[in-house]
Amino acid sequence: MKALRLMAWKSEPKLMEVEQPDPGPGQVVIKVGGAGACHSDIHLMDEFEEGLIPWSPPFTIGHENAGWVHALGEGVATLEIGQPVAVYGPWGCGRCERCLVGTETYCENPMEAPIPGGGGGLGLDGGIAEYMLIPDARFLIPLPDGLDPAHAAPLTDAGLTPYHAIRRSLPKLTPGTTAVVIGVGGLGHMGVQILSATTAATIIAVDQRESALKLAREHGADIALESNEGTVEQIREATGGRGADVVLDFVGADATLAMGAASARPMGDLSIVGIAGGTLPVSFFSIPYEVSVQTTYWGTRPELVELLGLAARGEIGSRISTYSLDDALDAYAALKAGKVEGRAVVVPYQTA
Ligand code: NAD
Ligand code: ZN
Ligand code: ZN
Repeated sequence: MKALRLMAWKSEPKLMEVEQPDPGPGQVVIKVGGAGACHSDIHLMDEFEEGLIPWSPPFTIGHENAGWVHALGEGVATLEIGQPVAVYGPWGCGRCERCLVGTETYCENPMEAPIPGGGGGLGLDGGIAEYMLIPDARFLIPLPDGLDPAHAAPLTDAGLTPYHAIRRSLPKLTPGTTAVVIGVGGLGHMGVQILSATTAATIIAVDQRESALKLAREHGADIALESNEGTVEQIREATGGRGADVVLDFVGADATLAMGAASARPMGDLSIVGIAGGTLPVSFFSIPYEVSVQTTYWGTRPELVELLGLAARGEIGSRISTYSLDDALDAYAALKAGKVEGRAVVVPYQTA
C-alpha cells in the first residue's frame, strides 16, 4: 500500500510503498477515509530534532484520522467490518488513572503506552496511507449517523483540541462574556463554531488572512479583526474597555501571546494552544490581575464522543478541501503557504 512517510527529522516526507498492516490480538486495521493535514506536522517536519520527544522517524505521518473498520484482530468484539470510525489519536497505557477517565494525552505510564507520548502519525504509523493499524480497539469511536470519515477526521484534532480548551474555560464563558480566537485555520475555525454552539459569549476572531476572517464570520464570529498593532485596542473597545474573558491562542507566537495577554480581562483565561514557539513573560505586573495562563494539549476520549455528537446534530462542521493520497504533499504545501480554508484533508478512499 502507499503511505506518506517521514524518514528523517528536518526532511520532506516521501510517498512510498509499504506492507499493508495486519491486526494482532485486540488490534484493528482501518481503511483510511480522511487524514487531516495539521500545522503540527509542519513543525514536526521542519523543526523537530532528535531528543525533543521520545520517538523518532521513520513513521507514516497523519495524526487526525477516520475511516472504516477493515480487519479485526482476535478478540475484538465491539466493532464490525465496514463500520465508519474516528481515531482517538493520543495513545496511552489504558490502565493509569488518566487513561481510565479517557485523558490519554497525559498518560502516567508512558513507557507502557504503544509509544511514549505519541500515537499514530506521531512516532507510530499514522493515517496518510491507504490503511492504518490501530493498536487497541478502544482508540476507535464509531461515527454517529450523518458523519463521513473525510469530515470526521478534522474533528479528532482540529476539533477536539479547541473543544478541550473551551471546555476547560466554560465557567468563564457565561452570557455577556467575550471569547477571542487568535488564528482561524484548522483549529480556529472549529474553535469559533464550538464557542458559538456551546456558549453565549461574544466571539471575536483575529487572523492575518482576510479569507480566514471571512470564514470566521461565516461560522459564528461576531467580530473579525485583522491581526496588527491596533488589535488589542479594538478588542478593548469591543468589550467596553474590560477585555476578553477567555483568549484562545491558536498560533502561539511572541506577538500573539503578547496580544492575548494585553487583551485579557482581569480574572480571565489565556490558553496557549498553538506551538509556534513564542514565549510570554509572566510577572506580577506583566498580565492583568488573576489571569490564568494555561497550555492545553489535544483532548480526552469522552470529549471526542461529545464533539462527534455535536457535529452529527449539525451544530458544528469542518470546512475541508480534499486531496488524493498521491497529492498529499500538495496539502502541506498549501497549508504552509496559508492557502487552506479550514482544514486540508487527504482522502485515500471515498467508500468502505
Ligand atoms: P493553520 O495553519 O491551519 O492555522 C493557523 C492560523 O493562524 C492561520 O489562519 C494563520 O493565518 C493564522 N495566523 C498565523 N500567524 C498569525 C498572527 N500573528 N496573528 C493572527 N493569526 C495568525 O494551523 P492549525 O493546524 O490550526 O494549527 C494551529 C497551531 O496549533 C499550530 O501551531 C499547531 O501546531 C498547533 N496545534 C496544537 C495542538 C495542541 O494540542 N496544543 C493540537 C493541534 C495543533
Ligand atoms: Zn495536530
Ligand atoms: Zn496511562
